[in-house]
Amino acid sequence: MQFKDIKGQTVTANHLTEIIDSGRVSHTQLFLGDTASGSLAMAIAYAQYLNCEHRQHYGEAGRDGLRADSCGECPSCKKYRQLSHSDLHLYFPYAATATVKGTGISAADFQGEFRDFLEAKHQLGTLDEWYEFMQIENKQGQIRERDADDIVRTLGMKSYEGGYKVVIIWMAEKMNTQTANKILKSLEEPTPNTLIILVAESSDKMLSTIISRTQLVKIHNTGDNIRVASDEFRTLYVTWMRQLFKLNMASLSAWVDTLHAKSREVQKQFLLFAQEAVRDSFLRNNAGLPSHIDFGDEKFNSSFPAMITERNIEMLNEAFDNALFAIERNAYGKIAFMELSFRISKALKKR
Ligand SMILES: [Zn+2]
Repeated sequence: MQFKDIKGQTVTANHLTEIIDSGRVSHTQLFLGDTASGSLAMAIAYAQYLNCEHRQHYGEAGRDGLRADSCGECPSCKKYRQLSHSDLHLYFPYAATATVKGTGISAADFQGEFRDFLEAKHQLGTLDEWYEFMQIENKQGQIRERDADDIVRTLGMKSYEGGYKVVIIWMAEKMNTQTANKILKSLEEPTPNTLIILVAESSDKMLSTIISRTQLVKIHNTGDNIRVASDEFRTLYVTWMRQLFKLNMASLSAWVDTLHAKSREVQKQFLLFAQEAVRDSFLRNNAGLPSHIDFGDEKFNSSFPAMITERNIEMLNEAFDNALFAIERNAYGKIAFMELSFRISKALKKR
């Protein structure tokens, strides 16, 4: 999988390739987001880029917005394309099927089937679709202790091909507690040139001891969710951005109270909307793409996008990721929104 083949994730892809190029690869990462929006595809593209022998760089201007990508041609890329690279290890939830059953089953028994599924769905298939593919619709899949043993063993071995060993655990929230506890040790004591990517749709059911040892990469929903944002979100956003531009503390504090009074789910939805709105402005301003969002305010529509540039987009993205993560982990909302507001205000000055 190359980044160019994943729709709507250019900003995140640029962020990821930059991490690799600057040699700051964190040993354990959590790719959080819907598979249908590309969370698993992004994890695989990231691993492919990491192991690519001829990484391609397209300069600041980029190619279709991408500043870098794997080559797609070197021996490592070819094996990644077929998901047959010996240093790529995939784990996923499964349950006994009509033909593969018994207490001793593990992910190893379903590797071929899982790769067929990824190919059939272009790596965007959902968990329900995977269960349907396995014909286990009525069962609950799990990632089991046996798989954790396998992961620990794999991480302890030398890489076959000399590059990075990569373990990708798809739907990591389906690890039962015993499994999660077993892999914790591997997360704590990393072996050199290994990368573990947990791909999850929700961090709610994951052990906090696991989450705290990962670096978060948020994969945004793409598609129509932007266009259905309510008038209320639009108004909240426009008011907020104007306050941050001038940094008026009294009205900012009132604004934070308004958001804090809403349910946690609405707070989260609003932050996701605001983050998409910022990305939308960036793409319009820097790649000349048409905007998806009408803020219902002519002056704002025409002047705000120019505030989001390549000098502040990553700061902004990171600030939103941190705030969303804090909200998901039940942090105190007012503090999270205030902190986010200050970070945005600072970023806007760097335009
Ligand atoms: Zn390559």
